[in-house]
Amino acid sequence: MSELNPFKIAQAQFDEAAEILGLDPAMREILRWPRREYKFTIPVKMDDGSTKVFHGYRVQYNDARGPTKGGLRWHPAETIDTVRALAAWMTWKTSVVDIPLGGGKGGVTCNPKEMSEAEKQRLARGWMRVIAKELGGDRDCPAPDVYTTPQIMAWMMDEYETIIGKNHPAVITGKPIPIGGSQGRGDATARGGIYTVREACKKLSVDPNGTYAIQGFGNAGQFAALLHKEVLGGGKLVAVSDSRGGIYVEDGMDPEAIVKYKLETGKVADFPGSKPISNEELLELDVNVLYPAALENVITKENAPNIKAKISCELANGPTTPEADVILHEKGVHVIPDFLANAGGVTVSYFEQVQGMYNYYWPLEDVRKQLDAKMTKAYHSVYDMHSEKKVHMRLAAYLVAVNRVAEVVKLRGWV
Ligand code: NAD
Repeated sequence: MSELNPFKIAQAQFDEAAEILGLDPAMREILRWPRREYKFTIPVKMDDGSTKVFHGYRVQYNDARGPTKGGLRWHPAETIDTVRALAAWMTWKTSVVDIPLGGGKGGVTCNPKEMSEAEKQRLARGWMRVIAKELGGDRDCPAPDVYTTPQIMAWMMDEYETIIGKNHPAVITGKPIPIGGSQGRGDATARGGIYTVREACKKLSVDPNGTYAIQGFGNAGQFAALLHKEVLGGGKLVAVSDSRGGIYVEDGMDPEAIVKYKLETGKVADFPGSKPISNEELLELDVNVLYPAALENVITKENAPNIKAKISCELANGPTTPEADVILHEKGVHVIPDFLANAGGVTVSYFEQVQGMYNYYWPLEDVRKQLDAKMTKAYHSVYDMHSEKKVHMRLAAYLVAVNRVAEVVKLRGWV
């Protein structure tokens, strides 16, 4: 396995936390590895009459705290090691927000961009037929991830219910609202992140009416633009970017106008009244809050010394490298780490699972209220660990998450 193997990285991050927590060898061994993993083949009849055999995966990393949960990726580069690593991260993410779930992940090696809707439906149903016995709202509950959609979740749920012969919408989340999706799932990731920013502003005495900038203007970035003002009651959006370039408006731009412009033109560049700015310059702006919401590894040891934001709220997964984490901590940049900052998505997925189990659906205000409560509590647990152990926020988040899973493993008598 190469040095960049994502599962090796996940294990190294766990090892660092395990060392500080002083976990015993058996506990380390059980938390370093998936409890169960499934690799299987899925034959699919293609539209041209041929049969294509796809490789599918499901990893149930750890179910000590509850049924495993995690998305399904349909991607040409999917391997068992990416699925294992993502399943480990889901275990820590559900733990850090203290929802009673474990971590899992799954996927199929395929290129959905080259498949028809009918072929995708047959693949979704084929995946479910192989693994249905191992799933359920009280066992393991998948959700959408890269290149999987609410429609795919609906087909999978339908296949599952056909197999078991009863209604069970809690088998999968991220479904369209008319067949058991939850209110509030669309903006949950950004909203959850902004709740943590609100708490950080209070702790650090940062002015919530100050400036903010967003790198990446897709689902997470656009909702962050709109909700920062709504949740914090103020703020001045000075810069946004996407893969085609960035823009800067010194006096601040209207979030609704820039979202509308992006939807109409497919880009943020050339927004009337703005100046162009590179993605690198955007990261180094002197703003109160920076939202990396695009790609991984954008804050590195090279640019970390130039980052001036007071708070970096990582809506993207993995935007900061381990070396940069240490530099940002020493400089006093307050990082809200990815698996805490973007946990609003899985939290509302959990609410969808709960609603499905009870067959009773909550109004939007209830979803938001419960999300706020979970994110606020999670932020303070991590902040308190960061203050107590004098470690950076990412390591503090690992310490909180791993400790909670270890506690339950011990209570169950596994070690
Ligand atoms: P998305 O595909 O909707 O948007 C990604 C955005 O990043 C696009 O605007 C794209 O133009 C931009 N981008 C791509 N390359 C860029 C570059 N070099 N510089 C600047 N911008 C660039 O994706 P998303 O759902 O918004 O996810 C963004 C990040 O948030 C990812 O890391 C994802 O894993 C993470 N995340 C999202 C969710 C969610 O619910 N959407 C949940 C958890 C984590």
